[in-house]
Amino acid sequence: MLKPGLIPSQEPNIRIGIVLPQDNQKKITAFLSNMCDYEMVVDTLTFSTCEVPSILFKVDDNAVTFNINNKRYEKVHKIVFRPIVDNTYITVDPVISGREFHWRKYINVKLPGNIEITLSEGNLLVVNELPLEDYLMCVATSEMSAACPPSLIEAQTVVARSWMLANVEQKHIALGVDVCNDDCCQRYQGLNNVTKNSKKGTEDTRGKVIMYNKKICDARYSKSCGGKMETFENLWENTPLPYMQNIPDMPDGNTVPDLTIEENAQKWILSTPKEAFCSSFTVPGNELKQYLGACDEEGEYFRWIVEVSNEDLSANLRDKLKLDVKAVLDLQTRKRAGSGRLLELGIEYLDFEDRQQKTIVYKDYNARLVLHKKFLYSSAVVINKVGSGKIPKRFIYKGAGWGHGAGMCQIGALGMSLSGYSTEEILAHYYPNSEYKKIY
Ligand SMILES: [Zn+2]
Ligand SMILES: [Zn+2]
Repeated sequence: MLKPGLIPSQEPNIRIGIVLPQDNQKKITAFLSNMCDYEMVVDTLTFSTCEVPSILFKVDDNAVTFNINNKRYEKVHKIVFRPIVDNTYITVDPVISGREFHWRKYINVKLPGNIEITLSEGNLLVVNELPLEDYLMCVATSEMSAACPPSLIEAQTVVARSWMLANVEQKHIALGVDVCNDDCCQRYQGLNNVTKNSKKGTEDTRGKVIMYNKKICDARYSKSCGGKMETFENLWENTPLPYMQNIPDMPDGNTVPDLTIEENAQKWILSTPKEAFCSSFTVPGNELKQYLGACDEEGEYFRWIVEVSNEDLSANLRDKLKLDVKAVLDLQTRKRAGSGRLLELGIEYLDFEDRQQKTIVYKDYNARLVLHKKFLYSSAVVINKVGSGKIPKRFIYKGAGWGHGAGMCQIGALGMSLSGYSTEEILAHYYPNSEYKKIY
C-alpha cells in the first residue's frame, strides 16, 4: 500500500480494487490464457493451474466455492493467483465499468500481476496487485484511446502517476486497496487497450511526476472543463492549491469574462468559444470518438443540452435529498465558481401538503447529483423552465463541460497535443506553478 506524503525513491507496488463489495457480486470467472503461467494459493494450499483453462468462483454460505478437475472446494476464504513468468495475464469476467455513472456496463479485463479473491460484507472482493508503472501503462489508454498523440499519452500518464503517489483521497483504504478500477479513482481496465504507444508513453516518463513545494501534486483531472478550469477549493476542501486555478483553457493571451457574475456565466455557457482547447472547433466531435476511451459514452462534451421532467426531477430530489417533494417550482443558479460551475443551487418546491418550501444545495458535486438521477455532466448550466402555470412541466439544462473541470482537461489536453504542444507545455498549462521532476 502507498503511504500518503511519502515520495518513493523506487517504483512501488500498488493494490487496485477490481470488484468491490458494493458491486454485490457473487460470481466471477478467471480465464487463464496460458495455464502454466500461474501458481494458485488457496488459503494455505498451493496448486498448479496447468490443466485449468478457467475457474468459476461463487459465494456460498459466506465463503468461496469452486471446482477444479471435477473436484469441489468449499469454505475457502482467500485465493491468490501469482504469475511465475513475465508478461502474462488472467482475464476476469465480469467487471463493472462506470460503477456510479449513467453509462455503467459490464466488461471483462485482462489483468497482469497478482490477483486476490476474498470476501467482504458477504460479496466478492477482487484485488489486483502490481508494480505502479505496469498499472500506469494500462491507465493512459483506459482513460483515453491509444490513438491519441504521444504528448497526450505522456501527459495523461504523468498526471495519473502524480495523483496516485500524492495519494490524498484514499477512498477505499478500509478495503486494503490504494484505488478502485473506475472513474471514482482512475479508470484501469488492465491490458485491454494497451498498445506499443501507451507502453512507450509510460516508459518515456518513468518515475516522472509534477511537484509543488516539495510535494507531489494532487493532480486531479476531468474530461472537459468547458473552456475555463475550476479551482480545488471551489470543488473540494477550502485549502487553495496554487496549481489548480481558474484559467482559460485557451492559448496564452486569451481571456474569459468573470464567470462568477451570473450574466457573464449565462452568456458563456450558451456560446461556443472556439479558442478553447477543448472546444468542438479544436477537436471536432466526429474526430473525438477515436481518441476517447473504449468505455466512454459518445456525446457532446463541450456544450450539451439535457431535459428532465418535473416528475423525474422530483423523484430524484426525494431520493437524493430525502425531501418531501411533490413538484419542483423553480431552480435558481444562486452562486457560481470561476468556471461557471455552481456553488449554490436554490430549489423551490411544493411538498405533499402543498406547502411551498425552499432549500439550497452547495457545491458542484451535489448540484450534479440532484439535477439528474444519472449525475449531470457538469453543474455549469443555464436552466430554463418549460410549461405555463405555477408548476413547470420540465426543465432544460444547457451546460458546459463534463466532469469537475479542475486540473487537466483531458479533451483540452488532446486539443493541445493535436495542435503540437509538448508534454511539458500541457502539464504547465493545466498545473501552473508545478515542477516536472523525475523521482525514480
Ligand atoms: Zn475509487
Ligand atoms: Zn477544457
